[in-house]
Amino acid sequence: MEDALEPEKKRTRGLDTVTKIATSHPRPPALTVRPQTQSQTTAPKVPKKTGPRCSTAIGTVLKKQKPDPAVPAQKPGAAAPPTLGGKKPTKRPAWDLKGQLCDLNAELKCCRERTQTLNQENQQLQDQLKEAQQQARVLGAECRTLEGELARVQAQAEQGQQELGNLRARVLELEEQLGTQQGLVQELQKEQVGLQEERRGLAARLEEQERRLQASEVALSGSQAEVASLRQEAATQATLLVAQGERLHGLEMERRRLHNQLQELKGNIRVFCRVRPVLPGEPTPSPGFLLFPSGPGGSSDTPTRLSISRSDERRGTLSGTPAPTTRHDFSFDRVFPPGSGQDQVFEEIAMLVQSALDGYPVCIFAYGQTGSGKTFTMEGGPGGDPQVEGLIPRALRHLFSVAQELGGQGWTYSFVASYVEIYNETVRDLLATGTRKGQGSECEIRRAGPGSEELTVTNARYVPVSCEKEVEALLQLARQNRAVARTSQNERSSRSHSVFQLQISGEHAGRGLQCAAPLSLVDLAGSERLDPGLALGPGERERLRETQAINSSLSTLGLVIMALSNKESHVPYRNSKLTYLLQNSLGGSAKMLMFVNISPLEENVSESLNSLRFASKVNQCVIGTAQANRK
Ligand code: ADP
Ligand code: MG
Repeated sequence: MEDALEPEKKRTRGLDTVTKIATSHPRPPALTVRPQTQSQTTAPKVPKKTGPRCSTAIGTVLKKQKPDPAVPAQKPGAAAPPTLGGKKPTKRPAWDLKGQLCDLNAELKCCRERTQTLNQENQQLQDQLKEAQQQARVLGAECRTLEGELARVQAQAEQGQQELGNLRARVLELEEQLGTQQGLVQELQKEQVGLQEERRGLAARLEEQERRLQASEVALSGSQAEVASLRQEAATQATLLVAQGERLHGLEMERRRLHNQLQELKGNIRVFCRVRPVLPGEPTPSPGFLLFPSGPGGSSDTPTRLSISRSDERRGTLSGTPAPTTRHDFSFDRVFPPGSGQDQVFEEIAMLVQSALDGYPVCIFAYGQTGSGKTFTMEGGPGGDPQVEGLIPRALRHLFSVAQELGGQGWTYSFVASYVEIYNETVRDLLATGTRKGQGSECEIRRAGPGSEELTVTNARYVPVSCEKEVEALLQLARQNRAVARTSQNERSSRSHSVFQLQISGEHAGRGLQCAAPLSLVDLAGSERLDPGLALGPGERERLRETQAINSSLSTLGLVIMALSNKESHVPYRNSKLTYLLQNSLGGSAKMLMFVNISPLEENVSESLNSLRFASKVNQCVIGTAQANRK
C-alpha cells in the first residue's frame, strides 16, 4: 500500500512546484512589438494579463508616454507654437517660420526622446521576452518531467488497481475457502461428537466382551476337559464303528444271500398272471367267465389261481342243448385280477429287481395277445399319469434309490440303458436320434470282445442314466421312434419285441468288491395266432410272415426255458434274435419273471387259453440255483 501511495505524494509535490512556479513566474504574454512609425502617437498596446513585474515596466512606459503638456500635439501641417514655461502654446502666425521651426525642433527633440525611451523599453521587453522564453523552456522541461512522472504514477496507479483487484479476488477466494473450512470444521466437530459417542459405546461393548471372554475362558477350560473325554469316547466309538461296519457288511452280504435264497424259494422262474379290466365300449363278459378262486387260506390269501370257462358252442349246436362250458383252472405264483393297480404289481417284483443290484441277472417278460395289457404293464398307461406308471420307470426309480442307500455302505453303482426292438428277426434301436430316428439302420448282436460273455448290439445307443428324468426321456424317445415306424407298417409295435436293458455295475472300492448284472424288461410281440380261415391277400401274407417270426421266437423262448429247466447241454439261444440277445439274462444265475397278460373278453378266450397254457409250462420250469455275478 505504501508503494501505491508513493506516486500520489510525488504527484502532489510536483503539482505544488508547478503551482508555485505559476504564481511566481507567470507565463510571459505573447508580445507584439510593432515598429513605431512617425505617425503613431498612441502608446503601444499592452496585453491585459501581465505579471506584476511586466505591468510595472509597462506602467512605467505608459507613464513616460503621457504627452508632454509642454508639447501639445498638432495637426499635421499646422505648426503649433512651442509651449514655453508651461504656458499654453499659441498658434504661430503663418509667417512665423522661425517660430514654427523652433516648434518643430522642440517636437523633434521630444520625439527623439520618446524614441529613445521606446528603444530602451523595447530592449527591456526583449530582455523580458528572453527571460520568459528561458522560463518557458525550463517550464516545458519541467512539464515533460512531470508528464513522465504522471505517466509513471498512472501506470503505478493502474498496476495498483490491478493488484487491488487481484487482492480483492484473493480476499473473496480466501473468504470462500474460509466458509468451506468453517463448514468442514463444523462437520468434523459433529463427526467428532459422533465418534466420541461411538467410542463410548465401543468401550462399553469392549467391557462387555471382556466380561464374556472371561466367562468363555472359564467355559473353554471346561469344554477342553470335555473335548478330551469326548475324543477318548470318539476313539472308542471309531473302533466300535469299524467293528459295526464290518458287522454291517457281513449283514449286507448275509442279506444278499438270504434275499437270493428267498427269491430262489419263490422260484427262479416265476409266472404272474395279470388280467386287464374291461375297457369302456367293450362287451361285459358273462358272469363266471373268469374266476379268481381263493387259496386254502381264504380271501386273505394273495390270489394265485384263475379259472376260465369256455363254452363248447359246436357241441351245443349239434345236440341242440345249451352249449356246455369247460372250466380251465390255472395256478401261478401270483394272479392279478382286473382291479389291481400298477403299484400292487410293482410291489411284488421290487425284491426281484433288487436282486439285480446284488449281481443277479433279472429278466421280466410280458407275454400275451395284442391288446391284453403288456405295454401297459411294462411302460405304463397313456398320459404320463404317475398312478399308471409301468414297471420300467418304477423299477429304475427303485434301483436308483436302493443304490443311493447302499452308497452309505461304500457301494457305488452305475447304470447304462439300451432299448431295442426285434421285428421280423431284425434288431432296431429305439433310442436312435437325429437322421437315424424312426428309420433305425439294422443292428447286429455281437459279443463285446473275443472270448467275452458280454453281448452288445452294434449301432445301438447305450445311454448312462442316473435319475428318473433321464429314464423318462428315453422312454419318450422310444415311443416317438415307434410312432414314426407305425406310419410305414401298421401296428408294428404289437408285432415286435421291445427289449429294455439296464447294465448295472456296482463297486465297493474299500473292500475291492465288484458286481455286475443286466436287468432286462421285455414287452413281447402279440402271441396271437393267425386265423387259419383267413384268405391270403398280399397284406395277409406279410402278416403271416410276421406271425411266423413271432411264433418262432416265442416258441424258441419256451424251448430255451425248457432246456434250461431240464439242464440240457444245448440251449437253443441262437434260434431267435430274442433269446440270443437275452441269453445272459436267462439260465444259470438268472432270475426270470413272466407276466402273462390276459384279456377279460370272452371273444379272446381262445388266445387267453393259449397264453395261459404257455405260461403254465414256463411255470413248471425250475432253473438251477442262481449264482451272483461276483468278480
Ligand atoms: P398290448 O401291449 O398287450 O397290446 P396294451 O398295453 O396296449 O396292450 O393295452 C391295450 C389297452 O388296454 C390300452 O388302451 C391300455 O391302456 C388298456 N389297459 C391294459 N391294461 C390295463 C389295466 N390294467 N388297467 C387299465 N387299462 C389297461
Ligand atoms: Mg403293446
